Amino acid sequence: MRPNILDPLFVPLTSFSGVGPKTATLVARAMGRESAEDARSVDLLLLPPHRLIDRRNRPGVAFATEREIVTLKLHVDRHQPSPRGRPNVPYRVFAHDDTGEISLTFFHARQQWLEKSLPVGETVLVSGKVEWFNGRPSMVHPDRMALESDSAGFPMIEPVYPLTAGLSAKILQRSIDQAVETMPILPEWLDPAFIARNDLPGFNAAIAKLHAPDDNHDLLPNAPSRRRLAYDELLAGQLSLALVRRRVRKLQGRPIKGNGRIRDTVLSALPFRLTNSQRSAVTDILDDMKSQERMLRLLQGDVGSGKTIVALLAMVACVEAGGQAVLMAPTEILARQHLATIAPLAEAAGISVEILTGRLKGKERKDAVGRIESGEAQLIVGTHALFQESVNYKNLLLAVVDEQHRFGVHQRLRLTAKGTAPHMLVMTATPIPRTLVLAAFGDMDVSRLTEKPAGRQPIKTASLDIDRLDDVVARLKDAVSSGRKAYWICPLVEESDLSDLMSAEQRQEVLQQTFGDLVGLVHGRMKSTEKDAAMEQFRSGLTRILVATTVVEVGVDVPDASIIVIEHAERFGLAQLHQLRGRVGRGQDSSSCMLLYKAPLSETAKARLSIMRETEDGFRIAEEDLKLRGEGELLGTRQSGTPGFRLVDLSVHGDLLETARDDARYILEIDSELAGERGKALRLLLYIWRRDEAIRLLRAG
Ligand code: ADP
Ligand code: MG
Repeated sequence: MRPNILDPLFVPLTSFSGVGPKTATLVARAMGRESAEDARSVDLLLLPPHRLIDRRNRPGVAFATEREIVTLKLHVDRHQPSPRGRPNVPYRVFAHDDTGEISLTFFHARQQWLEKSLPVGETVLVSGKVEWFNGRPSMVHPDRMALESDSAGFPMIEPVYPLTAGLSAKILQRSIDQAVETMPILPEWLDPAFIARNDLPGFNAAIAKLHAPDDNHDLLPNAPSRRRLAYDELLAGQLSLALVRRRVRKLQGRPIKGNGRIRDTVLSALPFRLTNSQRSAVTDILDDMKSQERMLRLLQGDVGSGKTIVALLAMVACVEAGGQAVLMAPTEILARQHLATIAPLAEAAGISVEILTGRLKGKERKDAVGRIESGEAQLIVGTHALFQESVNYKNLLLAVVDEQHRFGVHQRLRLTAKGTAPHMLVMTATPIPRTLVLAAFGDMDVSRLTEKPAGRQPIKTASLDIDRLDDVVARLKDAVSSGRKAYWICPLVEESDLSDLMSAEQRQEVLQQTFGDLVGLVHGRMKSTEKDAAMEQFRSGLTRILVATTVVEVGVDVPDASIIVIEHAERFGLAQLHQLRGRVGRGQDSSSCMLLYKAPLSETAKARLSIMRETEDGFRIAEEDLKLRGEGELLGTRQSGTPGFRLVDLSVHGDLLETARDDARYILEIDSELAGERGKALRLLLYIWRRDEAIRLLRAG
């Protein structure tokens, strides 16, 4: 149960005056909350303003510069309402100061309200932009007005919040003020020595300052109030990851001791030898699984580095031990592809493979689930359908999660909740920089595949202006006639954006003029059976050019495709370009990548393309990407729709992250159930940052 002291922070937004369900929905969306009901005042408190309006400039009427925001202290002289029956003529209020006269101009004004706000004979403060017309100043609809006698709360510095269009800034501001005013005084959860050393304000003071900045310095990520809150955010994250990890670890692991018999059969069925880093990753994993503790390991490897086979060997060890293993992919296509890789090898070794995805329906699904339950299915490949409640495993020993950055902590907990407490191997294809691994996964053991399989040739990468399309097509013609295969990627900005679909279809039509039937098409709006068919035709060589949107981004494997053309390369992020390029260079042929761009290029786009030409090293590309785009993109949070950090900027707060990790570890060492005084305060922190799921892992208290 949430402690009562936090109640004022969890008041639903709809209870604020002026906030109806519509506004609440907008705010909820902007803040990454699932529904309007779940948008609470704490979410407003943790919403940082991104700029401010400075009203401190007080030049006097005569010296006010055109279109600049000024604050004026004026004596109100007279009102000139709109003439009767002509509401389109503005209502004017004339006023002056020592330097000159100004007209305050209102369209469709309510006379009563204006007479009350700007009474004749009174001194008032007004703030807004001044416009000069024929040598006369006027201010149209001042942003702020107050009687001088009542101007204590007049905001000389006003924060501005980044929110969805359609939200009234005034209502938002009023709600935030209300949330700040009703905020309860909370006990300190940070270590006092740490606070003193870093000169950080307390939580309440930091929130107050966040919404009442003194100047632009207070908006910088390293301003004390922001640093304090960023640390809170990181600590809440690290603490909850540590709790999840502890739970995963605490559930008895089952030592898996395979005899290596099936593994040897699989290895001898492989048409290649494992690379050194594949071999050492397999050793890491088998060692982990032999111990009493549950394995929680991250397998990082660049695109094409051969993670699947490592996963398979780990899975096979579980079958040797008499159990089951699952491999979960983020998409149907990838699940099918894993199946295609694994099935022949499994068959050679005499083990059974099952697939379970959202596409399976009715009897087919029932049968699959039945075989999983009976244990007849030994290796199971699928999507998150694998972890629906209706699916029970006979003896699940290992769960391999591919492309994990698209899954969240929730899914990991769900996995754990399957009761059987399997060992866990998480694979990421995007080589994530260390800081991000820590932020997203907490402390995990890591194996890295650093070499590419033998015989791979470097990929030649060039960038070209789309104006030279004819050259590209001519080159492609040569290549195709000598038997090569090419991907042609068209960008997809939004999953639902029809214009992107059009662009892929149009590109197919254009290419068909030269290549006829040899051009296939695959995009996200096709039915999955159609997608599979298009992929299969390309794999088998029936088509030789595959026009695709980014559905081929992750993991798709057609080893003899050796050319990739990426249209509008300037629209893609680095990580994505790298992923896409990784579709080629997988076979023995030398490969090439053509990045087509539309001029003019932004500086960032230029930098991205030149990094792509310079290097194929995924880890370097990931570091550069972090510099250029920030962490959200890299973690794929945009795709999954989970909100990224509110106050943390990892390019600035990397040092805090390390400290937060150590802090979290230390906290749980000395107060494992968060029951002490600091522990109880830390529970508040977890609630505030919406880490309730981690609190459920604690014993009640
Ligand atoms: P990723 O790490 O991107 O998931 P995959 O596991 O899909 O990479 O492997 C990419 C390709 O490399 C596959 O066709 C696979 O069969 C092949 N492969 C994997 N390991 C080796 C190796 N040691 N030598 C040669 N080819 C390999
Ligand atoms: Mg893969």
